[in-house]
Amino acid sequence: MKVLVTGGAGFIGSHIVKKLIELNHTVITLDDLSTGKKSFLSEVMNHPNHTFVNGSVLNRNLLESLIDQCELVFHLAAVLGVKNTVENPLKVIEGNIDGTRNVLELAYPKKIKVIFSSTSEVYGKNDQLPFSENSSRVLGPTTTHRWCYATAKALDEHLCFAYAQKGLPVTVVRYFNAYGPRATATQYGGVIPKFITSALKGEPLTVYGDGTQSRCFTYIDDMVTGTLSCIDNQVNNEVFNIGKDQVLSINELAGKIKILCNSPSPIIHIPYEIAYGNGYEDTQNRIPDLTKANKLLNFYPSIDIEVGLRKTIAWYKENLEKE
Ligand code: UDP
Repeated sequence: MKVLVTGGAGFIGSHIVKKLIELNHTVITLDDLSTGKKSFLSEVMNHPNHTFVNGSVLNRNLLESLIDQCELVFHLAAVLGVKNTVENPLKVIEGNIDGTRNVLELAYPKKIKVIFSSTSEVYGKNDQLPFSENSSRVLGPTTTHRWCYATAKALDEHLCFAYAQKGLPVTVVRYFNAYGPRATATQYGGVIPKFITSALKGEPLTVYGDGTQSRCFTYIDDMVTGTLSCIDNQVNNEVFNIGKDQVLSINELAGKIKILCNSPSPIIHIPYEIAYGNGYEDTQNRIPDLTKANKLLNFYPSIDIEVGLRKTIAWYKENLEKE
């Protein structure tokens, strides 16, 4: 198949592009390199089945010309990261909503299937765990920028299903805390890149709050498997949780990374106000219910956190200097 991957030079996108090429698809990668990097595509950059286009999903003419050449779109281009959300809400709102609207609008006339990468952030601070795809979203006030990313991605999902109602084949995936090689602290923030970088540099691992909050960290290979299984047209017009239901508190994560890096770094705790400014409200726990993905996608994430962390740390050891 001829496939367009928006955001294909990013962390998750670049792994998807690589896998698609391995599976013999022809891929156009569109990325404006705002967070992605050409070097993430080094293994496929000169492959005859791969074309890299430096540009934005906000450039409609360019996007139209690329979508017209393809049979399938993976839409990953997004403005993300807690820091961006808090400090640059306009960029987050416009980047996510305008980009997704462009992709859907331009895919619609020829009914080109779109697989949209959303986020478990859309569930917000719902405390009814685990989250199934039709769980409610519980978000804070609009005066708190912190919620704008969750809101923008949820509106993107609404757009997807509005187009699905008009006959566009669409599948939505909600990622649960992806990690792995190429997720760098500088570009993506994210607790795992930050802790590994600090541990390898011998600097303190800074836990926000009391560290009892937890996440289900999901290794990139499992993310790619789950996302690619949505190519199947039987799962059009559906939304899926893609993640691993292995719960880890941030304190446990810090401890594991310190040990696996064999690091002398201290683990320290700081209040959220210092990390993100006043009024920041963290999601306490986030666990995916995988029943639907198990059943319809045959998705069973397999990579244990310790195995994934070892692979990620190995990548950092090789690449930290270059970041
Ligand atoms: N966190 C932390 N130290 C850091 C970065 C993040 O303790 O340097 C915490 C953060 O408060 C949250 C969890 O780690 O509870 C995951 O944060 P991340 O930004 O990776 O993703 P989120 O799931 O919040 O979107």
